[in-house]
Amino acid sequence: MKVLIIGGVAAGTKVAAKLKRENFDYEVTILTKSKDISYAGCGLPYYVGKVITDRSKLIVNTPESFSGLTGVQVLTEVEVTNVNHIEKTIDALDLKTNTTNSYKYDKLVIASGANAIIPSVDGVNLKNVFFMRTPDDAVALREAIESGDIKRAVVVGGGYIGLEVAENISSLGVKVSVIDMAKHIPPGFDEEFSEYIENHLAGQGIMTFTETKLEAILGEGKVERIQTNKRAIKADAVILSVGIRANTSFLMNTGIELMPNKTIKVNEYLQTNVEDIYAVGDCATVFNRLTKEPFWSPMGSTANNAGRIAAKNIAGANIAYKGVLSTVVAKLPD
Ligand SMILES: Cc1cc2nc3c(=O)[nH]c(=O)nc-3n(C[C@H](O)[C@H](O)[C@H](O)COP(=O)(O)OP(=O)(O)OC[C@H]3O[C@@H](n4cnc5c(N)ncnc54)[C@H](O)[C@@H]3O)c2cc1C
Repeated sequence: MKVLIIGGVAAGTKVAAKLKRENFDYEVTILTKSKDISYAGCGLPYYVGKVITDRSKLIVNTPESFSGLTGVQVLTEVEVTNVNHIEKTIDALDLKTNTTNSYKYDKLVIASGANAIIPSVDGVNLKNVFFMRTPDDAVALREAIESGDIKRAVVVGGGYIGLEVAENISSLGVKVSVIDMAKHIPPGFDEEFSEYIENHLAGQGIMTFTETKLEAILGEGKVERIQTNKRAIKADAVILSVGIRANTSFLMNTGIELMPNKTIKVNEYLQTNVEDIYAVGDCATVFNRLTKEPFWSPMGSTANNAGRIAAKNIAGANIAYKGVLSTVVAKLPD
């Protein structure tokens, strides 16, 4: 059986490795746009803060080591551009040679994940504007701080990732502010908890400004300040952490059903509406275990659990995914 997997980070590598463990004769191929596979997204802010010292420690496996360990073929810098479920083929653009090739599958797994949202404001392309989604993003931010140019920074977005970045760059001596449009941070907390968190962060030198919307990033060639709906704030760097969007635009017009938020709709067996096509990880919406309602849980834990079950089902099992509880554990800086 030929299995193609689109994407090779948490979900894609989980499915691939598990499939080969189920049956080593399966021909499993990962096609991924990125150069790196199998990295620890969760560790990126801690690489910036030097808790994780080397880039190599962020990467669980290189394409070569993963292939050697599992027998999975890994094609990097290859972007899937179309899925033809009638012919059971996908088209993929080789980003190194700029040529498009077609690949045949018996089963297809979409694990194309998500990307950072780029807010539509002026200045997002200025030097010292950063994101926190890939190892290269974390390396770029750490290098900029190590160069000594970044004395103060603004993190835009007070979600868990934004707060982890704030904690880590603050530990390197950078003066950090966090701004967020919401009334309280992090999202989903009630007023009492949020006030505790905001006060605690202030005690650690991290100032939070809520109900504060980014309007522009300003500077001559590089970041000098940001403009918000309330005030201008001086900054040498801006880290944009305003959320993520599923990488599913290549699925438009393929017949694969998407949710209103553009994630892929799957059933409890992680199957899409199209036969022999599964979807797992940040690109797919699962469901809440208690309410049974559709629930997007872009977390490494969900990607791993769902990936394992999808692989077993492809190998012939009939296991239902039980849903997510959406539990979150976060640490405050001390
Ligand atoms: C800073 C940070 C901290 C985090 N902390 C935690 C945490 O503490 N706990 C937790 O559970 N989760 C955490 N997460 C979330 C976790 O990292 C993600 O849920 C997980 O990486 C999702 O894996 P994925 O394989 O679904 O998608 P991704 O990691 O997004 O990987 C998808 C891959 O598919 C590739 N791709 C996309 N489109 C195509 C295409 N058309 N063709 C080919 N390839 C394509 C992409 O280039 C990418 O390499 C964190 C994430 C970040 C960024």
